[in-house]
Amino acid sequence: MTDIDTFRLQAHQLVDWMADYLAQAHTYPVKSQVRPGEIKAQLPAQPPSSPDSFEDLMADFERILLPGMTHWQRPGFMAYFPANGSPASLLAEMLTATLGAQCMSWETSPAAAELEEQMMDWIGRLIQVPETWAGVIQSTASDATLCAILTAREMHSKWQINERGMKEAPQYRVYSSTQTHSSIEKAIKIAGIGRGNYVKIAVDEDFAMKPDALKKAIDSDLAAGFQPLCVVHALGTTSSTAVDPLLSIAQICEDYQIFLHVDAAYAGTALLLPEFHHWMEGIEKADSFVFNPHKWMFTHFDCSAYYVKDQDALVRTFASNPEYLKTQTDQVVHNYRDWGVPLGRRFRALKLWFVLRMYGVEGIQQTLRNHIQWTKEIVAQIEAEADFELLAPVNLNLICFRYKPVNVHYLESLNRLNEKILHQVNQEGTVYITHTKLEGIYVLRMVLGNTYLTRAFAQKAWEKIRDTARTCSLS
Ligand code: PLP
Repeated sequence: MTDIDTFRLQAHQLVDWMADYLAQAHTYPVKSQVRPGEIKAQLPAQPPSSPDSFEDLMADFERILLPGMTHWQRPGFMAYFPANGSPASLLAEMLTATLGAQCMSWETSPAAAELEEQMMDWIGRLIQVPETWAGVIQSTASDATLCAILTAREMHSKWQINERGMKEAPQYRVYSSTQTHSSIEKAIKIAGIGRGNYVKIAVDEDFAMKPDALKKAIDSDLAAGFQPLCVVHALGTTSSTAVDPLLSIAQICEDYQIFLHVDAAYAGTALLLPEFHHWMEGIEKADSFVFNPHKWMFTHFDCSAYYVKDQDALVRTFASNPEYLKTQTDQVVHNYRDWGVPLGRRFRALKLWFVLRMYGVEGIQQTLRNHIQWTKEIVAQIEAEADFELLAPVNLNLICFRYKPVNVHYLESLNRLNEKILHQVNQEGTVYITHTKLEGIYVLRMVLGNTYLTRAFAQKAWEKIRDTARTCSLS
């Protein structure tokens, strides 16, 4: 047998394994139960000097590694935000790996560059990004936000910081609400702006940024000699999917000539539904927008869709043009290597193409609406229980809640009790949920966004959490 004949046999076996894995929802606890060091202790200190068989390799994968995996594609995965795959996306990932192309420039794979352009256009129109904006796939929302802040910095300095560094730069300020994701702070640090120049703006009772407080902070910074550079708007915060008021914030940014970046990492997928388009009112005044198909749009990690108003400004911020990368088509095509930090790029547009064609837009919309509807059904049940309470408005498919029995009153005690419940639920294995804190309150977060979720499972998950909570006590 040739190597390729052997590969064919092994690949067929592997596809059977993959289908079995996806079908056997109940086999493993959703959250891995291993202790630190347990996996490494089972791995030999040295690599094998001669080839191991595929059968031995798979046996060790199942015996050693699988117990150390958290099963993000299980319907019981309700933690953080999902990193959804789907059969359609998985098929595309297999093709991508088979082609093994590194798609940094148009010439290194024209189909990858042109499909990316078209997928970004398709999705951009669906989610109401302005038609004149250009889109590019980044690895993560964190990368996209870094691109946004670096572009804002370079536009303001007329690309002089790229040339001369930060020595003569003004003291820039970046603003976002107190609820915004930690990737904003990371980008500020990397961009050389300094964490001390990150201004966190107060939120209202729904955890959305207060535009008046933003304006006040900008005025006070200007009076003190700072240079307001960028505002990051949250279209769906991590803790509670709160949506900042875009139009008011965009107006302030326009008035003060401040770069506005919209972080819609998770909730952006909801914009595929026309009923959420009002969240985008004012987007034409913004400068950039990111959301992650790799969260709720059934597309495997990594795949983050980043849109910019000024394509030239983005490319000018990142472009470098060494001799060894020059091609004959540089002037007439999109070379995405110049649209962000990395040079090398995977063929990520393929999985978007597969997802959009194999679900159809209506198929995706129906699945999203199911998740939102099942969430409403669970929310109604939580509201009906005297010993549970909701802790944030539910505008999509994330529920923030806690157990609050009549005999426990103090904040600290309730926090400890709910932390205990979280660990108990996760240890049991059917469901995996995580927590956050909102105004000092320990909050259980349950996200109903998994590709393989069903209404029946959503119900079962809630009942499991409710019943586990009622068996937990502080002692
Ligand atoms: N922004 C928000 C609102 C998020 O919720 C997250 C992650 O959950 C991120 C940014 C970071 O996403 P990524 O892992 O793609 O960098």
